[in-house]
Amino acid sequence: MDVRIAKVRKEFDRFPALHDVSLDIHSGELIALLGPSGSGKTTLLRLIAGLEMPTDGRIFFGDIDASEKTVQERNIGFVFQHYALFRHMTILENVSFGLKVRPRSSRPPAGEIRRRAMELLDLVQLSGLEKRYPNQLSGGQRQRVALARALAIEPGVLLLDEPFGALDAQVRRELRKWLREIHDRTGHTTVFVTHDQEEALELADRLCVMSQGKIEQVGTPDAVYDTPSSPFVFGFIGESSELPVTIGSNELLLDGRSVGLPASSGTSGPARLFFRPHDVELTDDDAALAGEVTASRRVGGTRRVEIEIGNNGQKVEIDLPFDHPAGQRSRISFRPRRWRLFDVK
Ligand code: ADP
Ligand code: MG
Repeated sequence: MDVRIAKVRKEFDRFPALHDVSLDIHSGELIALLGPSGSGKTTLLRLIAGLEMPTDGRIFFGDIDASEKTVQERNIGFVFQHYALFRHMTILENVSFGLKVRPRSSRPPAGEIRRRAMELLDLVQLSGLEKRYPNQLSGGQRQRVALARALAIEPGVLLLDEPFGALDAQVRRELRKWLREIHDRTGHTTVFVTHDQEEALELADRLCVMSQGKIEQVGTPDAVYDTPSSPFVFGFIGESSELPVTIGSNELLLDGRSVGLPASSGTSGPARLFFRPHDVELTDDDAALAGEVTASRRVGGTRRVEIEIGNNGQKVEIDLPFDHPAGQRSRISFRPRRWRLFDVK
């Protein structure tokens, strides 16, 4: 099911939690809403579900204006961060619940409900645990039950609000892969909320990056990572280093010296240069960024050093392909392989 969000605004007591948000969610895709805490992700999800109504704007399910649909009619599967399983029901009863409470006219026969629930427990790899109660499962297993329960009603749209947020890093990574596999098999239109950029990059077909109630950028993980549209997105998706530069007649300058990067014609004046610490090469060129190492630390498999550059004590971080002992100062010249320039606001 396509979901179209058209110029939606949401205020809580005059506080604008969402400003003029427009987004097309394509049928069958897994889209991640990614942004820091308070950026409006949950509010957008609750609006899609019909748990909140927009102050302004519309939401369409296919061609139908969703404001004409009740929460039940929207046929949404919802999974929250804190597994809202029914504690007094077995796993099988939890998964069957959504079908059992349907009005008689649309309720499948009991045998059919049981068959479907068992099938879903098999899909989420929990066969054999159907007679247990939620408190007899691990956190990761409970979230898998929550997903099976959400899928049982054959939702038109599946909404997942930081479903792995309360789990430890190892389990999160496993569930991330697992969710992607389930999505590839079942093909539900899925909106996945997270503040974890790594999770979003690995899991989603497209990312929708949010900040302060606005959409900053929408695109595939590669497009957003490689061509962030704003300093915010650059810094939020992956690691970033920033330097204030001047756009000269055909090259970029720092403190009046060329840094060995071309400037596109037609622009001039101050700008913000962004690059990724791992995306640099060392060089002996005189026209390059150069400075003294002031700190160094291990980040995963590489050595990340802080370099003081220019006359104003500006510091940036780059990754070195060799070990650089902490505390040892030395002069290093480098050039970003890829970079982006943004206007100074
Ligand atoms: P996120 O899920 O990205 O952390 P939310 O959508 O929960 O963000 O919140 C966005 C903003 O709206 C926050 O500033 C939050 O305090 C505010 N907000 C959310 N729900 C309510 C509410 N029911 N009443 C008042 N303010 C709210
Ligand atoms: Mg939230």
